[in-house]
Amino acid sequence: MPQLAERLFHGRKHAAETAKDFGAGWAVAPAGRCDICSRDLDGKHGHRIPAAEFKRLVQQGYNPRARGRLARSLVAAADGAGISADQFYQAWRQGAMADTTDWALCDACLKDVAAFMSAV
Ligand SMILES: [Zn+2]
Repeated sequence: MPQLAERLFHGRKHAAETAKDFGAGWAVAPAGRCDICSRDLDGKHGHRIPAAEFKRLVQQGYNPRARGRLARSLVAAADGAGISADQFYQAWRQGAMADTTDWALCDACLKDVAAFMSAV
């Protein structure tokens, strides 16, 4: 379902692609929005997750919607369009695996990701 994936990822426009100061590790994310829950990030408290690291997480089965982290507006839009939770997850997963940019996460989403990682 490429159209849904495109819609889901259309809003992901943080500065990670062009930043030159990125090193390995979990650096501070630039100001923007959390890539999972869409909360505003002020450029000081966000966490930047390298794309490869995030893909590893997705491969291990991380599902932000099932964990209640995904922005409610996205979930509501998908429900309104008659997209099942499974279709939604498949589209999200496909988009996440195709994405080559780093991810910006808020504190709460980082906590959730860390909890998931420590449980696998
Ligand atoms: Zn978040």
